[in-house]
Amino acid sequence: MHSISLQGLIKRFPNHLATDDIRLDIEEGQFVVVLGPSGCGKTTLLRLIAGFEQADAGRIHLHGRDVTHLPPGARELGMVFQSYALFPHLSVADNLLFGLQLRRVPAAERQRRLTQTSALLGLDQLLARKPAQLSGGQQQRVALGRAIIGGRRVILMDEPLSNLDAKLRQDMRREIKALAVKLGITVVYVTHDQAEALSMADLVVVMHQARIEQVATPAALYEQPQSLFVAGFIGSPPMNLLPLEVGAQGLRVAGTQQSVALPEEHASATLGIRPEHFHLQADSRQPQLQVVVESVEYQGSDSIVNCHLGSHALAARLPGRVQPAAGDTLLLGWNPHAISLFDPRSGARIDRAA
Ligand code: ATP
Repeated sequence: MHSISLQGLIKRFPNHLATDDIRLDIEEGQFVVVLGPSGCGKTTLLRLIAGFEQADAGRIHLHGRDVTHLPPGARELGMVFQSYALFPHLSVADNLLFGLQLRRVPAAERQRRLTQTSALLGLDQLLARKPAQLSGGQQQRVALGRAIIGGRRVILMDEPLSNLDAKLRQDMRREIKALAVKLGITVVYVTHDQAEALSMADLVVVMHQARIEQVATPAALYEQPQSLFVAGFIGSPPMNLLPLEVGAQGLRVAGTQQSVALPEEHASATLGIRPEHFHLQADSRQPQLQVVVESVEYQGSDSIVNCHLGSHALAARLPGRVQPAAGDTLLLGWNPHAISLFDPRSGARIDRAA
């Protein structure tokens, strides 16, 4: 039985289709991150699962139970939002206990869960404080505690870390993931931050314009993007995408005389090369591209070298000590087995012979 099963969810707002035929099965204990650009429908999808929005079509099952028409309170989900939504006049303890009191959980059981949850989240010394007396990270921990104290098996999180500074975000990523694993809960986590998605997820759901673009493990998403959109969205800098055309000598980069030999035959394609799959090339028998350097971003261990090839921009990740100057010509070698190819018309990945 799936923990969550979404079956053809459609949500239309006036003048806007927010989710379009979303189909997704999530297993018990999976940490699923919904990732996509602003406005692609991530939050709407989470709100549909939570019951804050009603779908125009499709069904939602939680642990096999059809909850499509149930109100939020009857769905038995925990939730954590970007705004922590803590009650400012209540202590940490009372904030944590609020939901249990509402559900009339007996006092002894409430106390037991409070002790357990506050210990788990390192809040035991802070129980008497008011939210205003806590740091952002501590407030977020209380919000997290409130979601898990009820023993819910499914927790929904919408950009829970976006109000925290960069260092704290990284710490909290690890904490949230470790907590989810320890409790064995199913998490659906919405973010537009790909570093968060790739570092936390068992499974990433990439959304684009109201639809699911790809569902994959972080490594599969990075190594085998199934569409031009995913290739251009994941990675920092993202995959270089060069349109190819047929020339007199075979394939070449469109609009240039730069020929490109692929391991297999293709009529036309868009060639995808990750920045780290370029290297400085000395051996002219290997595949290479002649590019002109525009700028160099030194990053310590490596440098991002921004170049152009005709009218095409591309980025190469080279060792940090390699510091070409703007205007230099470089020969970039690339590993023909580490590339991706896409159908330029449909945008779909072209599967390659092993
Ligand atoms: P972000 O990362 O910016 O939060 P998102 O991917 O979460 O974006 P949603 O908030 O789900 O996107 O919104 C999807 C689309 O639906 C947007 O174009 C938004 O303007 C629209 N939308 C969301 N809620 C409503 C509403 N209540 N009424 C009308 N349109 C809405």
